[in-house]
Amino acid sequence: MQPFSYLPYSIFRSICLLTDTHIHLDLQEYAADLSLVLERSQLAGVNRWVVPAIGSAYWSALPMLHQQYPAIYYALGLHPWFLSQEKESVIAELDEYLKSKPAGLVAIGECGLDGAVDVPMSLQIEMLEKQLALASRYQLPVILHCRKAFNELLRVVKQFDLPRGGVWHAFSGSRQQAEQFIELNFMLGIGGVITYERAEKTRKAVAKLPIDSLLLETDGPTMPLAGHQGERNEPAYLPEVLQELALLRHTSVMELSQKIAINAEKMFRISVSS
Ligand SMILES: [Zn+2]
Repeated sequence: MQPFSYLPYSIFRSICLLTDTHIHLDLQEYAADLSLVLERSQLAGVNRWVVPAIGSAYWSALPMLHQQYPAIYYALGLHPWFLSQEKESVIAELDEYLKSKPAGLVAIGECGLDGAVDVPMSLQIEMLEKQLALASRYQLPVILHCRKAFNELLRVVKQFDLPRGGVWHAFSGSRQQAEQFIELNFMLGIGGVITYERAEKTRKAVAKLPIDSLLLETDGPTMPLAGHQGERNEPAYLPEVLQELALLRHTSVMELSQKIAINAEKMFRISVSS
């Protein structure tokens, strides 16, 4: 199904500057056709991207990706799934990168806690705390991964002074859970999950949450939208998330897209007009 079949893309593009705030464009899945992926994305009105690193092996390539495609911004961090592969010195290495303020760096992440993987929770917490301390020191927002660990994640995050807050990415919680993070200056990354009718709790939550706390993301190459199961996810599908969100909130796509574009600019300090 084509989104906005009632609205020519040329018009949509001229009004809309969407940011896919969580898209793993640096992974192998996009290596063969990245420029085409970006082109399709731009044609769909999505012309900026935030790529969160999943581990230290990816850090050195991201500044180069930004150089090649200036509208690709990135975050450096350690995903909880892959912590066992990292060296002792990895936090010192991250510190060095942050100190050098590389162009295009907009956040720390993705980091967080996952209660459903075989990585010791003590290690996950330790590495999250170290990354949050860096976010605090360098005044950067954090991009958080949270699965089956909400209470623990909230407890850890609350211990840090995070002047720029961050994003609870791939939000799939309740309204009450979202509000606890909003209080800490966080936004919610809304993705394909809301396109599934069975995600009732999350659909209800995003219908009511304050507009200025919402961001859009695809989390490609995984997390396919309803109707795209089995396909590689990509940023060109982001308008379908936007459209679903507009339906749930009984608002217009245009109004919503403009407000959400401003949220992305605020969170990551990337210019709407660039
Ligand atoms: Zn991710």
